[in-house]
Amino acid sequence: MGKFLKDVKKQIKKSGEKGGIKKELLKKLLSPERFLEFTIPLNEKYLHAYRCQHSSILGPYKGGIRFCKHVDREEVEALSILMTLKCALIDIPFGGGKGGVAVDFQKLSGELLEKLAKEYVRGLFPIIGPDVDIPAPDINTNEDIISLMEEEYSKIARKHSPASFTGKKIEKGGVAGRVEATGYGGFSVLEELCVKERLETPSVAVQGFGNVGSNFVKFALENNYRITAISNEEGGVESKEGFSAETIFKDCSFLKKGKKINNEDLLEKDVDILVLAAVERVITKKNAPKIKAKYIINLANGPVTRKAEKILQEKGIIVVPDVLANAGGVAASYCEWVQSKEGIKYSKEDVFQFIAAKLKKSFCELFSKDEKYPKESFLLSEKAVLLALSRLEKKFLETEKFN
Ligand code: NAD
Repeated sequence: MGKFLKDVKKQIKKSGEKGGIKKELLKKLLSPERFLEFTIPLNEKYLHAYRCQHSSILGPYKGGIRFCKHVDREEVEALSILMTLKCALIDIPFGGGKGGVAVDFQKLSGELLEKLAKEYVRGLFPIIGPDVDIPAPDINTNEDIISLMEEEYSKIARKHSPASFTGKKIEKGGVAGRVEATGYGGFSVLEELCVKERLETPSVAVQGFGNVGSNFVKFALENNYRITAISNEEGGVESKEGFSAETIFKDCSFLKKGKKINNEDLLEKDVDILVLAAVERVITKKNAPKIKAKYIINLANGPVTRKAEKILQEKGIIVVPDVLANAGGVAASYCEWVQSKEGIKYSKEDVFQFIAAKLKKSFCELFSKDEKYPKESFLLSEKAVLLALSRLEKKFLETEKFN
């Protein structure tokens, strides 16, 4: 078994056993409820396609579809488990799912991409649906592809079924604010952290300036936070007094707008808050001892390894786990699903309010003084997994009664 899936399963097993979660549930969560694997003939090749339906304890399966070269069975399974935990933690009635096709996306013409999207839906059709499994976008599947998939699903079902997919274009039933949702969720977590820790004008450094990082920066600057360093994979810049939105978002690249620094420098800057919005495993046991920030917000998936988190927590650094900090996207997806099912329309403000409320509630649960999971014995990421597992356990025991 590869490292990623092994780590994710270990997280469930170890944290679950340590926190006294029922063994039957842990055993159930270590295997997906269903895994569909099929081939798609495309341009004289047979592509491997997958959909993992990990857990439906809390509701229909929910999770993205990625079109990338490296996608395989294990990656899809690991990501579906993380979706189960994320939905449970922020208390959204969805289960965990994930899908993908192993394909060299850069080599696909528009026509082949369209064919692939439709074939993938035909393969999935018997096991998905508005109340069963609702896929969404992920790497290389944008709102156009998802809208096309929803059309294909509706055609086969012979019924307009907008709630079969989320992440659609606005004119096809998509929800306002979906694109900015993960960055907005991260910003809501920043606000909660500052209230809890009574931080007045904290300095904030942000690694990663893609969809999540740039939207996070946009909301933070609109609310007068002091962003003192930003980077992407080409390098970074800093400004002691803080960047303005004008400087960062206008004209040419932000990399030309301040004193140049590299990525390692950014991670080790003496700032109040470090926001990780790029890739996984950027803080490991190697650089953890050099981190000077007092707080870290994990917006990317898995940017801090478990060993590094242990070192940081021992140094008194608070690391907000990814399952909470980047859950804004799935919260917005829930709004889109309800909107499509009920035939109503949510405004961007409605969606943002929903995200902020969900994340605030989970943040308070996570940071409450809890005799069951004292911070001397549990990492915050372990506590987040345990809060998710407890919610799953409650529903699991209720439904077991009827079996
Ligand atoms: P993106 O591809 O739009 O942006 C990634 C950014 O990271 C880019 O600015 C890139 O230049 C930068 N980057 C890449 N490698 C880097 C490195 N070594 N050092 C510094 N910067 C580097 O991706 P995104 O959608 O913004 O996602 C970022 C992270 O958030 C990923 O881990 C993703 O899994 C996670 N995430 C995204 C969403 C979402 O809604 N987009 C939801 C949940 C989690």
